[in-house]
Amino acid sequence: MSIHSRFDILFEPVRIGPVTAPNRFYQVPHCNGLGHARPFAEARNRGVKAEGGWGVVSTQEVEIHPTAEVSPFQEGRLWDDRDIPYHQLTTDAIHEHGSLAAIELVHMGHHTPNRSSRLAPLSAVHMPVEGIDPVNARAMSKRDIADLRQWHVDAAIRSMQAGYDIVYVYAAHDMSVLMHFLQARVNTRSDEYGGSVSNRLRLTREILQAVKDAVGHRCAIAFRLAVDELMGPDGIQAHEDGREIVCELAELPDLWDVNVSDWSNDSATARFQPDEGYQLPYTDFVKSVTTKPVVGVGRFTSADKMVAMIKKGQLDFIGAARPSIADPYLPNKIREGRLDMIRECIGCNICVASDNIVAPIRCTQNPTQGEEWRKGWHPESIEPATGDEQILVVGSGPAGLESALQLAERGYRVMLAEAGEQPGGRCIRESRLPGLSSYRRVADYRIGLIRQHRNVDIHIGNALSAQDILDMEIPHVCLATGASWCHNGFGRTHHHGIDLSGAELKILTADDLIKEFAVADSNNPLSDLEPGAPILVYDDDHYYMGGVLAEHLQEAGFAVSLATTESIISSWTVNTLEQEKIQSRLIAKNITLHTNKRVSTINSHNIELACTYGGSTIQSDYAAAVMVTARLPDTGIYQQLKNLSDAVTETDSSRSLQCIGDCHAPSTIAAAVYQGHQYARSFGLSKGSYSADYTREFVNLEKNLRIN
Ligand code: ADP
Ligand code: SF4
Repeated sequence: MSIHSRFDILFEPVRIGPVTAPNRFYQVPHCNGLGHARPFAEARNRGVKAEGGWGVVSTQEVEIHPTAEVSPFQEGRLWDDRDIPYHQLTTDAIHEHGSLAAIELVHMGHHTPNRSSRLAPLSAVHMPVEGIDPVNARAMSKRDIADLRQWHVDAAIRSMQAGYDIVYVYAAHDMSVLMHFLQARVNTRSDEYGGSVSNRLRLTREILQAVKDAVGHRCAIAFRLAVDELMGPDGIQAHEDGREIVCELAELPDLWDVNVSDWSNDSATARFQPDEGYQLPYTDFVKSVTTKPVVGVGRFTSADKMVAMIKKGQLDFIGAARPSIADPYLPNKIREGRLDMIRECIGCNICVASDNIVAPIRCTQNPTQGEEWRKGWHPESIEPATGDEQILVVGSGPAGLESALQLAERGYRVMLAEAGEQPGGRCIRESRLPGLSSYRRVADYRIGLIRQHRNVDIHIGNALSAQDILDMEIPHVCLATGASWCHNGFGRTHHHGIDLSGAELKILTADDLIKEFAVADSNNPLSDLEPGAPILVYDDDHYYMGGVLAEHLQEAGFAVSLATTESIISSWTVNTLEQEKIQSRLIAKNITLHTNKRVSTINSHNIELACTYGGSTIQSDYAAAVMVTARLPDTGIYQQLKNLSDAVTETDSSRSLQCIGDCHAPSTIAAAVYQGHQYARSFGLSKGSYSADYTREFVNLEKNLRIN
């Protein structure tokens, strides 16, 4: 018996209707921002997952008709036969590794305003589309319903022709017309498609049946259903109508793919759902009412937990979107017992944000995500070294750790120096803040692997000066020394900072709190403040830090106010699907929120906030203000090195000096990891840091110039 036989159950084949999955690892549909605009990148992205051992690999949502298109977002498209060859690229890439290819066919109903096709959206009833576009969807007539059935059938046949093994019917995330018909709060129709649960699911049943009749002999039919909307009686509930729907349709699909809605609940971040398997309390009843296989998700990365879920009969397939993004090789690593090499998802939703900002997918943990085709980056392999140079990496945050790890993988000799008492940089520091504990995985994964490399010397507690670096005579120096939060409020709103000359209250930066904050500690920068003292967090940054620090200070017993120049709290987190949850949590914690406010003056203990649109001001006294406005790169060593040594240049191939990560240009942790990776990949090669050194996908002009 092999040492890792306890995982064998995960590698059993499972029958799904007319097809058989080679194992229980199932990459459920997820967006990647590649889609119909970048078909080669899409195919390679999915192919790498199959190569990494996922038994089923799915597309993202695929539009079946121009009455529901999500431009400018780049999802899949299967409107007519001309789309089929693009999908064949993907199915071929998946089949090459023996995995099944699944396609998620979607009609989004009133979820989308059809910005490109300009066709009126369709819904169960007349109603405004989701979001703020001044567009209404119109109530579907019987003719529209018949058309919708036919569009599904046509798309299913095209899917089969493109080589897909599993065809989805989709009623999840509040993003599908079928789900809109299921929702009692939306579907107020008075005909046989509205009213009782069985009337509301009539359309879904008809479409499932029609698709099965059309392609069920060759393809498995999967039904993706949100069994709970986490809205109580206002939405579908797992133990009420959710259960009724599953019971009524129990044996109709060949596979149940179940989750919670909306997307922010399904793809909940670790800040709001820290535990693996957080959806199981809603989804695990499904197996008890159907004999068909069931797939569910919940940021699963622990192999033992996966085995337990299968053995307990909670799921048949380990569904994953984000864990497969963070580590496309997760199944193979489990099979081979290489558990310490799994890049665990940290639940930050940078991947989700890429889709929301209409960019190709990126991932904090996996810098190769989305770059598989255009840069030729593979998540598990890297080009060998082109020489035997030694490289000094200064700083062990995400940028320094990733560059050191990948340089070591390539075979270079690396010295990694870190000033702090432990490696990890901002990942470790920030992981002490409320809801961010998973951030330390970015550091832990890399530190664990670096320690296995004999060609890396790690020097912790070693703050190098420019002279130290020169004295070491290591020809290549990579500076990953990070960035610091500004003390004077400099940032998007205050280009010259805030005048602090009259301030008598304590002015702190996010760094002061992140680095030292332990309430009982006498080093605590807040230790001389009375419990309950009023503190203002001033957020002109708009990602997570302002909101997190407000929570942190409130938990420490201060009376916290948060002022932001935006009209909502932590506004960029709209993209990570956290914004509403953050604002609700801060309100629940009695944190006073001031939106559309900039700091206009600080005098003594008094801070005046002015409306960003002009007019009103408010004034209050505070014991301290925490500036969360902008970070600037820590380039001191870089400048000193340049001053001390003319010989150190950025272009000389025998010597080099380069800043990466936050000390190059402060950004997300994902960007720091990416730059560390980029540095290591390109070391010894001629590519410059500013070139868009990737392959682009072009429209074939020759064909498109033909008028017919
Ligand atoms: P990034 O996100 O770019 O990786 P971080 O701020 O997370 O940046 O990490 C920078 C790291 O560099 C910190 O851990 C810091 O202690 C370390 N560091 C900064 N200056 C020096 C120095 N002179 N010598 C060694 N380590 C340094
Ligand atoms: Fe997980 Fe974050 Fe990567 Fe998304 S970006 S897969 S949430 S680590």
